[in-house]
Amino acid sequence: MGRVRIVTFTILQNVAVATVDGAGTEYRDGHVVVDGDRIVAVGAGHAGRYHRSAQYIDATGCLVTPGLVNTHHHLYQWATRGLAQDQNLFGWLTALYPVWAGIDAELVSATTGAGLAWLALSGCTTSMDHHYVYPHDAGDLFAAQVEAARGIGLRFHPTRGSMDLGASSGGLPPDSVVEETEAALIATEEAVNKWHDPAAESMLRVAVAPCSPFSVTATLMAEAAALARRKGVRLHTHLAETVEEEAFCRETQGCTPVEYADRLGWLGDDVWLAHCVHLDDAAIARLGATGTGVAHCPSSNGRLGAGTAPVRQLLDAGVPVGLGVDGPASQESGQLGAELRQALLAARVRGGPSALTAREALALGTIGGARCLGRAAELGSIEVGKLADLAVWRLDGIGHVGIDDPVAALVFGPPASLELLMVGGETVVRHGELRTADTEQLARGLRRASRKLARKAGA
Ligand SMILES: [Zn+2]
Repeated sequence: MGRVRIVTFTILQNVAVATVDGAGTEYRDGHVVVDGDRIVAVGAGHAGRYHRSAQYIDATGCLVTPGLVNTHHHLYQWATRGLAQDQNLFGWLTALYPVWAGIDAELVSATTGAGLAWLALSGCTTSMDHHYVYPHDAGDLFAAQVEAARGIGLRFHPTRGSMDLGASSGGLPPDSVVEETEAALIATEEAVNKWHDPAAESMLRVAVAPCSPFSVTATLMAEAAALARRKGVRLHTHLAETVEEEAFCRETQGCTPVEYADRLGWLGDDVWLAHCVHLDDAAIARLGATGTGVAHCPSSNGRLGAGTAPVRQLLDAGVPVGLGVDGPASQESGQLGAELRQALLAARVRGGPSALTAREALALGTIGGARCLGRAAELGSIEVGKLADLAVWRLDGIGHVGIDDPVAALVFGPPASLELLMVGGETVVRHGELRTADTEQLARGLRRASRKLARKAGA
C-alpha cells in the first residue's frame, strides 16, 4: 500500500514579489504557491483555484523575497558582546581569546539558540556558523550546536573550525585555546561523518573551517583542504580582513593572504572566504577565475575599523558574494536584514552612488549567499522547484509606507518586520513573532551563559 500524500498548499496572495531569479523578475501584485517544502508556482495576480484545504494568506502591504542566507557567523560570541569596544581586530582578539577559553557546551547551546532566533527575526532562513574555539573539557560543542539549531528550525551549516598556531609558535591566540593539529583534523572528520547531510533538502550541512592564517599552521590549512575534498564538503576561513593580517602574511610567508591561500590549495568553487577587505587587482581576478566565494560582513568590518570589501569589483569579476553578520562580539546588532542596507551604504562610501543597487544588495543576501554555501540549485531565489524558504516583509507601516518601490523600501528603509518566515514550507516566524521557541526563555538562557562566562573570566 502506498503512502497517502497529504496536500499542504500554502498560497501567498496580494503580495509584491522579488524573485531574485536570473532575470530579476518582480511582480507588483503577485502570488507564490508552496506545496510541502517546495515552491510550485509564482506569478502575477491571483494564484487561481487550489484544493479547498489549501491555506490562503492575504499578504497585502507585504513584499516576499527569498529567505536571507547568512554566510559568516560565530554564534558563541553572543555571550561576549560589547567588549574591547575601540580595538582593531588583533587588539580585540587578544582581549577576547582568554574570555572565550571558558566556553562550554551549555554556553554554545544557549548562544546558538538565541543567535539563530535573532537571525530568523531579521529574515534569515539559512545560516552557517564558524566555531573555532574548542577548550579542553568543554563537552561536545558541535552536538550542542546541532541540537540547539534544530529547536529554532533554520537551515544550518555549522563548520568545524580550528586553531593550532598558538602564541608560543608565533601565532596570535594564547596556547590555552589552540588544539593539536592532528586532533583538530580528527575531530573535523568526525563532525563531517556524524552530521553532514548532502541531500538537496538538507537542513544540516557541515563544512571545514580552520580559523585564519594568523591562528592556523600551513599544515592544518593544507590538510583541512585535502580532508574537505576527500569528504565532498565545503571549505571556509577568514582571509584578508585587515592591513595587520596582510603585514603578518608578508612577514611570515612572503606573500599576500590570497597568494598564500592559493599556494595552500585554498582557492576554488568549493571555498568561500570571510571578509576579503584588502585585495589587489590580481587577487580579485584570481578569486573570479577560481570561483572562490566571499562572505561580505560590512557591519563587522565597520565596527573593527577594518575597511570595506571591494564588492563592486568582486561582482564585476564574477565572484560569488554573500552577506554575513559575523560574530556578535564584533557586530552587536546581529541582524541579517539590516546588512542589506549596510552593504549598499558601504559599497557607495567606497565607490560612489552607482557602486551597488538595492536589487544587487538583495541578491547578495539571497542568491549570492546560496552560491557561497553551494546551494544555488535549491535556495536563494523564488523559482518553481526550489525549496520554500521565504521571507514576507511588512512594508505598510510608518517606517516604509510611501516608498513606492518595495525593494527600495526594504533595502533603503529601516529593518522591516516579518509577516511570515518559512523554511522548507514550515512557519518559523508569524506576525513578527518566533513560533518555534520562546524568545524570553532564550534571552534568559543567554543572560545566564554570559554571566557565567564573565565570572569565569574574572576569576
Ligand atoms: Zn569572523
